[in-house]
Amino acid sequence: MRMSKLFVQTLREFPSDAEVISHKLLVRAGYIRKLTNGVYNYLPLMWRVLKKIENIVREEMDNAGAQELLMPFVQPAELWHESGRWDVYGKELMRLKDRHNREMCLGPTHEEVITSIGREGIRSYKQLPVNLYQIQSKFRDEIRPRFGLLRGREFIMKDAYSFDADEQGLDKSYEIMAKAYNKIFERCGLETKMVQSDSGAIGGSVSHEFMVLVNEEAENNAGENDVFYCTKCGYSANSNHAVSILNPVETDGKFETAQIVDTPNVHSIEGLAEFLKVPQSVICKCLIYVIDGKYVAALIRGDRTVEETKLMNAFQGNDIRIARNDEIDEIMQASGFNAIAGFIGPKGLKNVEIIADETVKELKNFVIGINQTDKHLIGANWGIDVELPQKTEDIRLVEENDKCVDCGAPLKVTKGIEVGNIFKLGTKYSKAMNATFTDKDGQEKPFIMGCYGIGISRTAAAAVERHHDEYGIKWPLAIAPYTVIIVPVSDQDETQMKVAEDIYQKLLDAKIEVILDDRQERAGVKLKDADLIGIPYRITVGKTIQDNLVEFKERATNNTITITPEEAVKRILAL
Ligand code: ATP
Ligand code: MG
Repeated sequence: MRMSKLFVQTLREFPSDAEVISHKLLVRAGYIRKLTNGVYNYLPLMWRVLKKIENIVREEMDNAGAQELLMPFVQPAELWHESGRWDVYGKELMRLKDRHNREMCLGPTHEEVITSIGREGIRSYKQLPVNLYQIQSKFRDEIRPRFGLLRGREFIMKDAYSFDADEQGLDKSYEIMAKAYNKIFERCGLETKMVQSDSGAIGGSVSHEFMVLVNEEAENNAGENDVFYCTKCGYSANSNHAVSILNPVETDGKFETAQIVDTPNVHSIEGLAEFLKVPQSVICKCLIYVIDGKYVAALIRGDRTVEETKLMNAFQGNDIRIARNDEIDEIMQASGFNAIAGFIGPKGLKNVEIIADETVKELKNFVIGINQTDKHLIGANWGIDVELPQKTEDIRLVEENDKCVDCGAPLKVTKGIEVGNIFKLGTKYSKAMNATFTDKDGQEKPFIMGCYGIGISRTAAAAVERHHDEYGIKWPLAIAPYTVIIVPVSDQDETQMKVAEDIYQKLLDAKIEVILDDRQERAGVKLKDADLIGIPYRITVGKTIQDNLVEFKERATNNTITITPEEAVKRILAL
C-alpha cells in the first residue's frame, strides 16, 4: 500500500473527549472515528487489525472443534419472553417495533437465539456435544459508553455457545474453551489472567474472565475491574466475586453496658468512630439498598465496604442501587420512625429485608443506629439488644492484604480490562425455553449449556493500552495492520526513492503487508506518523544509502540498526 493512497488521516492533537490512551491514540492515528456516542467507524487500518484478531479467534475456535455460523442482529421479543429476560434485561437492551408493531431488539448477546437453534436442530444425545459461534456486531445501550472501543454501545464480539448432554460434558467443553482462549490472547500478543468471576445477568454458576492487567499508576486507568490475586498460590478473582479471610481487628467495642448516647450531626462512620473514640470495626453499619424495586438493609462492619454484586446475588436480583433519601423517609414512616440517613438501624424496620455480612456476627459490645436522629446505641450485643439477621452471607468487598482463602498469603489488587469470559450456563436457557434432546435412556432432557465471549474490538483497544509509548501505538506483530513501513527520507532524492521502491516491490512479491510512504512530506512528518500508527518495523532510506545502508527500526523496542537493504528484506522475510 502506498501511503499517498492509504485512507488515513492522522491528527496533530489528541481528541478532546478521550480519557484513556487507547481511545486517544486510535483516533489520533486515524484508526477510528466517532459516529455518535459509543458508536465508531472502523477505518481501513482499524478494520485490518480487527480482521486479524477475528482470524486468530476463528482459527483457534475451529481448532477447538467449534463451528462458525451467523445469527441475525435483530431479534424478536418472543424469544426473550420465553427466556424471561425481556422484562429483566434493563435499558441496555435496545428495543424497537417493526411496521406491524411487533416488538424486536438489537442483539446484545444471543443466548435466546442459539437456544432456539439448538431446540430445533439437536434431537439426540448422539449429536452432542456441539459448540457454535459467531463473530458479529452487538448493540448495548450502555449507561456510560466511554473509553472509545473499550466500552462502546456497538462493538464486535465473538460469542460461542456449547450444548452438552450432562455436567461432565459441560466441564469438558468449558475446559476446551479456556485453553482456546489462552491461545487466542497469547497469539494476539496479549498477556491475560484468567480470574474467577460473578455470573451476573446471564446466570449460571461458574464463570471466569480473561483480564488484561493494566498499569495501576496510569493517570486515566482504563481497567474497569479490580482483580484480586494471590502471588503465592495463584488464586485470582474479579472484585465482584473475590473472597478473603480478614486480618484480625478489634471487634469488641468495650462499652460494657448497652446505652443510647447522643451523637449530634455525626452521620458518617469516620465521624462516629472519632466522636466515640472507637475503631470503625466495632460499628455496625446499616445501608439501605433497592434491589429490583424492593428495600434491603445491609449490615456490615464499619471498616468494610459492601460489594453490590454480591449483595444483589444474595437476593437473586438483577438491579441494585443505594436508596435515595426520600425512600429512606418512606421506610421510616412505614416503620414509625423519623430518622435520617446515618442513624438507621435494623431494629423495627418494616417491609425491609435484612442481610448481614458474615463478619458482623463476631461483633460484641458494638455501636449501631437505632432509627433516631443524632443518637446511636453503644455496647450492643446480638440476641440481647438487636436480633442477628437470619440471612448472613459474604457481601463485602475484598481489600488488599486480606488473606487468600486458599493459602493464607496476603492478596494483592490490580486493575484489569475484561477481554473475554466463559460461563457455565447449565440449564438456565434450555429449561426456560424448553430446549431438550433425547438422552441414552430415552428421556427428554434440557441441554446443559455454556457460553463464551470475546470482545474483538475491546481486545484491539486493550492491545493499545498495553503496547504504546509517548509517540504512539506499538502493535504486536500478529495483529498489526501492516508489518513494515518503508520511509524514504527525501522524496526528491532519486536513489532513495529507487531503493525504497525496490524494497517495497520485493516485500510485496513475498506477500508481506507493507506500506511505502511515498508522500511529498517532510521526513519528520513521515517518521512521526510511522511511530504514531505503530507499524512493527520501519525501514528508513536516507543519506546512508550512498554506502548501501538503511535504518531498520523495531517499534516494540525502538531499537535501530543500520544494515544493507538486502539484509533488511531478509530480516522481514525471516519473521
Ligand atoms: P462488562 O462487564 O465489561 O460490561 P460483560 O460482562 O457485559 O462485560 P459479556 O456480556 O459477557 O460482557 O460480553 C463478552 C465480551 O464482550 C466481554 O468480555 C467484553 O470483552 C466484550 N464487551 C462487553 N461489553 C462491551 C462493550 N460495551 N464494548 C466493548 N466490548 C464489550
Ligand atoms: Mg456489560
